[in-house]
Amino acid sequence: MSNPAATPTAETAPDATLLEDFATLSAFGATSGGGVDRQAATAADAEQRAWLHRWLTARGAEVRYDGVGNQFGLFTVVPGAPYVLTGSHLDSQPLGGRYDGAYGVLASAHAAYRAVSRYGASGTAPKYNVAVVNWFNEEGCRFKPSMMGSSVFTGKLPVDTALATTDPAGTTVEAALRKIGTIGDYAGPDVAAYAEIHIEQGRELENEGVTIGLVDSTWAARKFQVVVRGEQSHTGSTVMADRRDALFGASLLVVAVRELAEQSKDFPLHTSVSEMSIEPNSPVVVAREVRMHVDLRSPDEEFLAAAAARLAESVPGIEERASVSVELVQTHGWGVAPFPAAGVRLAARAADELGLSRRPMMTIAGHDSVNMKDVAPSIMMFVPSVEGISHNEGEATDDLDISRGTDLLTEVVDRLMSGALDTEAR
Ligand SMILES: [Zn+2]
Repeated sequence: MSNPAATPTAETAPDATLLEDFATLSAFGATSGGGVDRQAATAADAEQRAWLHRWLTARGAEVRYDGVGNQFGLFTVVPGAPYVLTGSHLDSQPLGGRYDGAYGVLASAHAAYRAVSRYGASGTAPKYNVAVVNWFNEEGCRFKPSMMGSSVFTGKLPVDTALATTDPAGTTVEAALRKIGTIGDYAGPDVAAYAEIHIEQGRELENEGVTIGLVDSTWAARKFQVVVRGEQSHTGSTVMADRRDALFGASLLVVAVRELAEQSKDFPLHTSVSEMSIEPNSPVVVAREVRMHVDLRSPDEEFLAAAAARLAESVPGIEERASVSVELVQTHGWGVAPFPAAGVRLAARAADELGLSRRPMMTIAGHDSVNMKDVAPSIMMFVPSVEGISHNEGEATDDLDISRGTDLLTEVVDRLMSGALDTEAR
């Protein structure tokens, strides 16, 4: 790769139509704090899906839904040819930001439409068609696990398992999707290549003044469901020695999870206990059971495995100290996995031609592209996040970066449609 510092950054005004559409999209599920709350298959998700459906249809795409609610907008230019697929997710975390996922879907819609219009105007036919995708339930907050739609599409999660998953109120994915009407029997397009753009959700690009991150591999992640079982008793009258306080045991585990990160030296390790439910959660009752979600991530697989082992080793001591039992089960995870180098090169050349500074980077967060790269040549790109804020109403990206990222995605989609990746040395 050439030195990105040697490449001048393009001076252009942001695309007004794109920003206008982003403002419209950001109104669905808008919160008073400037963010959005549109968890999977809620009313706000239904509104934005309907809006995207109309947007795509108005520009000549055919919109179809598969059995887990993935929304596809098919621009068919060469009947019978496979599709370049580009997209991300519109669903958000509770009190989430406007950009996470939604930017990628909107950028993909604009990029696909622009690329199709270009081919139309030039009178040349591409090798591949293009389709926009809005993956169902990437965030995994209302329904677990995260990246549900792309996991089903890539054969990693059986559709029946996904559809039977319930939210905390007991509503199944299937019932929720039927209620909002975005479930169908489309098998999905034959995918020639996949491209996704997303906000970085970190500080590296901003700190270095670089516009584009080209993702060359993923951090590894392991996620655990933890159940701490004690015994319900009176908070006042039960003598301390008799207590089997599940919340105390859980608290020791929360600290142990944090200490894994604090004590790690060789590689970065990000650890969290991110969700907790307490039974019976009553003011005068010692908790009998606590359920928690533990999330461990590192750029090194062996280091992550060692951290998971250290966590397991801390369990007997916690059980003894709090007189509880702890069940620690890994529910899912992924390894350090590369994105194809040919795709990184293709995107790097496109960025250079647009005068956009760029650097290679790993993705710490999971994305639908992490699933897609296992079934199709995939390209993942980042634009800067202001102060790295994410999964927060204060999430932000500069308008110019929004626009430049969409310009880059347009170039990448255009090249993928031409079959450029097929001839790129792998
Ligand atoms: Zn996302």
